[in-house]
Amino acid sequence: MDSMLSRAAARLVAGRWIAGTRADDALKDAKAFNSRGIKAILNNLGEAYRSKAKIDSTVSNYMYLINSISGMRLSASLSVKPSQLGLLVSEKELERNYLKITRAAKKNGIFVWLDMEEHDTVDSTIELYRRSIKYGNTGICIQSYLRRSMDDEKRIVGDGGIIRLVKGAYTEPRDIAFQSRAEVTKHYSSMMDYLFGHASAFMIATHDMNMISKAMRLEKRSKKRAMLGMLKGIMNREAVRLAGSGEDMNIYVPFGPDWVAYSYRRLTEAGHTSLILRSLMKRQSIDA
Ligand SMILES: Cc1cc2nc3c(=O)[nH]c(=O)nc-3n(C[C@H](O)[C@H](O)[C@H](O)COP(=O)(O)OP(=O)(O)OC[C@H]3O[C@@H](n4cnc5c(N)ncnc54)[C@H](O)[C@@H]3O)c2cc1C
Repeated sequence: MDSMLSRAAARLVAGRWIAGTRADDALKDAKAFNSRGIKAILNNLGEAYRSKAKIDSTVSNYMYLINSISGMRLSASLSVKPSQLGLLVSEKELERNYLKITRAAKKNGIFVWLDMEEHDTVDSTIELYRRSIKYGNTGICIQSYLRRSMDDEKRIVGDGGIIRLVKGAYTEPRDIAFQSRAEVTKHYSSMMDYLFGHASAFMIATHDMNMISKAMRLEKRSKKRAMLGMLKGIMNREAVRLAGSGEDMNIYVPFGPDWVAYSYRRLTEAGHTSLILRSLMKRQSIDA
């Protein structure tokens, strides 16, 4: 019963967080965000695929997005999940698909992010990423809730990689991940300091206004410009404001029929009913 209720709640709120079921829905959102000075990060929803048909159709969708972004002259990048490109089949299958997308994107001047998933995929995701840094159009998500992440960050920055810093969206064990919001945020803050001190390009991806304000202070002090990132439907109005004030604002726009896992994570984060209700009551426009 509980899971039926959560599924119903997820379906209700999913419309706010997800562009729609088709790639064209995401392209339409990207165009609307671009008109407000915001770049889009497009993600085809779906994860933990073992079926070759699902993996191949995901790769085709990303190839379609690359051609469309280029044809429509949109300011948009892609963000792909290792487990939707074949990680659970074999690392070889993943690498083949990821490189196919990355090379096609590079030909069209499009940037490709690697999403980060559960902790047991971190090593293979980082190794795959390190092999792709030479292409020059790739970045990787790193999660501050993982105790190991500062070391990973230093290694990736040392290799010339580009990091998108997030807090982390999965439920992870205590020995591997910080559990309290305060610890996760403290680690996020230190990892942000390191990026401003040592990296030339990186994204501060959060809706935590304290962290965003800190990033803006560090931008002034360091004369470096960070990319800022948010998820569609959480703080669109704030994103529009930040873009208007000259920040390099990016919004993650997911689409596709496999919306359940993503929506559960957003529901869990919204945490308490008042946030969910506020989310539901706001208009579903890019200004909401
Ligand atoms: C561009 C981008 C890419 C991401 N990519 C990944 C990835 O690849 N892997 C990964 O594990 N995670 C990813 N995430 C998700 C991230 O890890 C967090 O789960 C998510 O951003 C919430 O954390 P927060 O930093 O906003 O801070 P929090 O402390 O969780 O939230 C700060 C404030 O934001 C608001 N808020 C946050 N979430 C919600 C919500 N669902 N509904 C309503 N209000 C909300 C609340 O006001 C809250 O107080 C990504 C996030 C962004 C912005």
